[in-house]
Amino acid sequence: MLSKTVLATINEQINKELYSAYLYLSMSMWCETQQLVGIAHWMKAQFIEEQNHALKFAEYVNDHDETVVLEAIAKPPAVFTSALDVFELTLAHEKTVTASLKALYALALKESDVATQTLLTWFITEQIEEEKTATLIRDRIKSLSNSQGMLFMYDGHLEERKASLSVG
Ligand code: MG
Repeated sequence: MLSKTVLATINEQINKELYSAYLYLSMSMWCETQQLVGIAHWMKAQFIEEQNHALKFAEYVNDHDETVVLEAIAKPPAVFTSALDVFELTLAHEKTVTASLKALYALALKESDVATQTLLTWFITEQIEEEKTATLIRDRIKSLSNSQGMLFMYDGHLEERKASLSVG
């Protein structure tokens, strides 16, 4: 059984995961216009991954025979200033997601909701990887910021991300 507060906060988290998906899709589309096809591909994989996060929370709610309430998704930025800007924003965004998941964990702990704590352990561990990867790519792009040629070479490398490009 989920408490009203835990349920409401998970519903909010579903919206945050869907906003993340929206943000990364927007970044992907912008990168396409800049011929940054590798980053565009990487962000598309990220878009799918965030939808899967939303789905994982939604199924968890359903497993408790509760109702998922979907709210409107905020409009993400459509224009970015550079590849570096894209990854600075990605890293900053992932940090806010981590903070939000930790706050949800603290709530579950306060309510002795062990099942939700267990679910959140997976998400919080996943965030370590998200922040690590975003930091690595941000730093790499920063080091190349004076060379458009080097940036395009690195961009080609990011096209190799093997994440599945389908939901589920
Ligand atoms: Mg996520």
